[in-house]
Amino acid sequence: MTRPPSAISGLRRSVLALGCVLLAVVVAAPAAATLRAASPRPATTSAAVPDQPTALAVTAQAAPRYVRGSDDRTHIDYDLLITNWLPGTVTLRSINVLTRSGTPLLELTGDELAAHTHLVSGAPPTAAIPASATVATIIDVALPQGTVPAVLTHRISYDLPADLNPALRALIGSLEVSAPVLAVDRRTPTVIAAPLQGPGWFNAVGCCLPTLHRRLLYPANGTWVKGETFAIDWQQSRDGALFEGDGSRNSQWFGFGAPLLAVADGTVVRAVDGKTDIAPGASPVLATPEDFAGNQVTVRIGPGVFATYGHLLEGSVQVRVGQHVRAGQQLGRLGNSGNTTAPHLHFGLVDRAEAVVANAVPFEIDHFRFVGVADPQTGQITGTPRPMRRTYPLVNTVTDFDQGGLS
Ligand SMILES: [Zn+2]
Repeated sequence: MTRPPSAISGLRRSVLALGCVLLAVVVAAPAAATLRAASPRPATTSAAVPDQPTALAVTAQAAPRYVRGSDDRTHIDYDLLITNWLPGTVTLRSINVLTRSGTPLLELTGDELAAHTHLVSGAPPTAAIPASATVATIIDVALPQGTVPAVLTHRISYDLPADLNPALRALIGSLEVSAPVLAVDRRTPTVIAAPLQGPGWFNAVGCCLPTLHRRLLYPANGTWVKGETFAIDWQQSRDGALFEGDGSRNSQWFGFGAPLLAVADGTVVRAVDGKTDIAPGASPVLATPEDFAGNQVTVRIGPGVFATYGHLLEGSVQVRVGQHVRAGQQLGRLGNSGNTTAPHLHFGLVDRAEAVVANAVPFEIDHFRFVGVADPQTGQITGTPRPMRRTYPLVNTVTDFDQGGLS
C-alpha cells in the first residue's frame, strides 16, 4: 500500500496543476513596457470631472451581476474593458467603484490593480496598457449581505507615457475618467441543487478571485463573452488531500468517478461521450471547440439558463439529447476528459445552449455544509463549519453536500 501524500502537498499540487478552462485562450505576449511617467498635472479627484478628452475609453463587458457568497457578503461582479487610445503605454494608477452618490465601495491600486487587470488576449496581469491595446479589469465588489446598489459609478486614474509628444499631451484634458455609469442587473441568482454529493468538495477554480475562470474573456459572434465568471472546478478532498499515492493515475484521485447530478428539473440539450480520459498532467488533444469540455452534458433548466458539466468520464454519460431529467438524477460521472490537468467537475450556468458563445449566469446552491476555506499554498483549512442556504461557495472553499435536491 502506498503511503498517502501529506495533505498539504496533495492540495497544493492539485491547485497548481489545475488549469481547466473550457476555452482557454492563453497567449504568451511580450512583457509590456511599464513606462511610469511623472504626471504632467495632478489627477483630478473631484467627482465632477468636466467633459474633456481622456487617454482611455472605458466600457463594461456586461451589466454587473451578484451572488451571495460563502463569506456572508454579496459579491457584485463584472469586467471593465479599458482601451488606451495613445501610441504609447498608459499605466493605470487606480480604479474606484462608488455609488451614484459617491460612497466608495472598492479601490484597486498597485499590485492588486495589476492582479485584476489583463490584456484581453489573456496575457499575464498588468496595470500597463500598451499602445492602442485593450485590457479587462476584473471587478468584484463585496458588500454586506443583501446590499445591492442600483447604480455603480467609477473613477479611473492613469499616468501618460513618459515620451508622449507635446501635442497629444496638450489634448488630454484629464488623467481621470469618470465612467462608466452602470445599472446593476437586479435579476436574482438561479437557485440550484448541488451537482455533487458527499463530503469534501473543494472549489479549486471559481469566483471571485482573478482565477482562470473569472478571467476568461473572448469574442464570440462579434462581441465579448464571459462564460465562466461563476463556473466552478470541483475536486473531492479527504483530510486536505486530493489524491492518494503519487497522483499519477486518475483512479488515485478521490473524486474520480463520482456521480454528477442534475441541479434542477430540465431537458438535456447536449450529451457528448466517447472522448478519452487523459492521465493527470498529460497534454489534452484539442481539435475542435467541443474538445475543450471533453465528455459533457448540458441541461436547459429554465428560460435562458443552461447547466453545463464538463470533463466527464468516458462511457459514463447516461442521458441523451431531448431527455427530461429531474433534480438529483444522475447524468454521468466525474472524469478527466478534455482540457484538464486532473480529475474534476467543471460546472456552471450559462445563458445559451452553446457554452462557448455564452455568458455565465450567477447561481446559488440551495443548501450545503460549509467546511472552511483551504489555503492553496498550505492546504490548511480555516473557518467555522456551518450549514448554508442559497449561497455561492466561493473559490477555495470546501463544502459537504448531502444527497442533493432542493428543499
Ligand atoms: Zn473549469
